[in-house]
Amino acid sequence: MNTAFYNELAPLLKAHQATLIAVTKNQPLSALQELYDFGLRRFGENRVQELCEKQQQLPADIEWHLIGHLQSNKVKYIAPFISYIHSVDSLKLLEEINKHAAANNRIIKCMLQCYIASEETKYGLDKQELIDILNAPNFKTLQHIEIVGLMGMATNTSDTKLIAQEFKHLKNIFNQIQSQFFSTQKSFKELSMGMSSDYQIALACGSTMLRIGSMLFNP
Ligand SMILES: *Cc1c(COP(=O)(O)O)cnc(C)c1O
Repeated sequence: MNTAFYNELAPLLKAHQATLIAVTKNQPLSALQELYDFGLRRFGENRVQELCEKQQQLPADIEWHLIGHLQSNKVKYIAPFISYIHSVDSLKLLEEINKHAAANNRIIKCMLQCYIASEETKYGLDKQELIDILNAPNFKTLQHIEIVGLMGMATNTSDTKLIAQEFKHLKNIFNQIQSQFFSTQKSFKELSMGMSSDYQIALACGSTMLRIGSMLFNP
């Protein structure tokens, strides 16, 4: 673990009232155990199988976040324990999560993944698609999911102006969705944006959850 990085990050997180999701994909169990022993409890993985294997072998008080694309047929594997799913990108997926959350007698916190980058990526909703999901008659019947916010990824570029523009755009969408659909629901408050290369920009643009992997491990 790169504790020097964490020690620099901690006061920033506090100042911005943001939380850190330690992205542990591709890391061995021993690396996760080291983070755990240091005191970290929020871990993010982007693949279901890897997530399940690690969850089974590590302490039960870890809060697991799925941050990568989720296929409907894999929801059942994570429904018993997952705390947050950041990467919801369709109503169909939301319905599937709701079904398996109900079967496990749980409410699963979800974020809708927004497409904000100017590069071609496969996943994520635009603003109109978000609105369509939230307006869908069936959406209101989903009692076992809770939409707690939005997630997005900026373009992978060294152009910090472009990154800031994309994060500000997501923050704008967040504000509009919040006032249009969640004005009476305090639980809609999370903006999951910022990774190792752009977390400072993300914090300045209103991120509440950083998803950081490589910087946390490589000195
Ligand atoms: C891997 C990953 C991250 C973390 O990226 P780093 O550059 O290693 O900090 C964040 N979000 C998602 C969706 C990822 O897949």
